[in-house]
Amino acid sequence: RLYNEVIELKGNIRVFCRCRPLNHDEIAKGSTSVVEFDSAQESELKIIGSDSSKKQFKFDHIFRPEDNQEAVFAQTSPLVVSVLDGFNVCIFAYGQTGTGKTFTMEGTAENRGVNYRTLEELFRVSNERSDIMRYQLCVSMLEVYNEKIKDLLAEDADQPAKKLEVKQSAEGTQEVPGLSEVPVYKTDEVWELLKRGSRARSVGSTNANELSSRSHCLLRITVRGDNTVNGQRTRSHLWLVDLAGSERVGKIEVEGERLKESQFINKSLSALGDVISALASKTAHIPYRNSKLTHILQSSLGGDCKTLMFVQISPSSSDLGETICSLNFASRVR
Ligand code: ADP
Ligand code: MG
Repeated sequence: RLYNEVIELKGNIRVFCRCRPLNHDEIAKGSTSVVEFDSAQESELKIIGSDSSKKQFKFDHIFRPEDNQEAVFAQTSPLVVSVLDGFNVCIFAYGQTGTGKTFTMEGTAENRGVNYRTLEELFRVSNERSDIMRYQLCVSMLEVYNEKIKDLLAEDADQPAKKLEVKQSAEGTQEVPGLSEVPVYKTDEVWELLKRGSRARSVGSTNANELSSRSHCLLRITVRGDNTVNGQRTRSHLWLVDLAGSERVGKIEVEGERLKESQFINKSLSALGDVISALASKTAHIPYRNSKLTHILQSSLGGDCKTLMFVQISPSSSDLGETICSLNFASRVR
């Protein structure tokens, strides 16, 4: 059934696949790569099954283990820049924990990811357009954990957080009243701000990595544009989302708090899949209300909004099952 799955560019929804390199642990344990890249077909890959069968997948773009952060951003930048033209944009990183979602979005100080590069690019392009456009950029960061919203840029992130909810505005858009919005003016200040939000994610948890894999992290860039020639004003949002790990948890560990967590994660990831596939198939009813994640993003998903999903995969034979699950999810949202 999985043979020759074709995932094509459809309308405003794009799917990129990124495969990380095999790591030292995997090599030490004798794991091999199950991903075969096609030298002639850049947008196709094959997964070699345990019985040596091959399943083929096609994406709008495929990043191989050797592709660096610049290469990824080169394909992403036209989409992020469209927020300056008044489009709402959502970018997601989806995949099993350990496949590079945070590496792609946040990156490291030496290998900065899409989030930082996006702000850098938005500043660059808005300066280029300064003769006719005046832009104001603001940054918000929030976490969704167990269907609760946490403000990651609140002044006193250690205080018991105020309860945030999604509300419909008078204009009919979905808003999160009370969410902190930090105006940003230049690239220099942005990395520290993003780090601050990312640090606030782990407050109150004993294991930062553990919690970050169980929650969704959303960076929102709000762009207010003022056309100094015709007086036209725009406001648009660009969302950069590092999703919770998509892996199914083992039956033995699943009880109590952990069971609740994984039910919330399953619910929100499948709700996201449902919304995007409903949009792709132009269904009339889009089920935004089925999860906090899709409800928050409602005004930026659908209509003429643009969506990009990075499906992050591991090349390792030890992750074969989860890799197939992620690629199947990606084919559902095509
Ligand atoms: P996730 O957020 O999906 O759990 P991470 O981004 O934390 O995964 O990545 C897991 C590890 O793999 C990190 O140490 C990260 O630096 C490394 N890594 C991920 N993707 C790449 C890549 N494309 N190139 C090099 N290292 C990577
Ligand atoms: Mg992560």
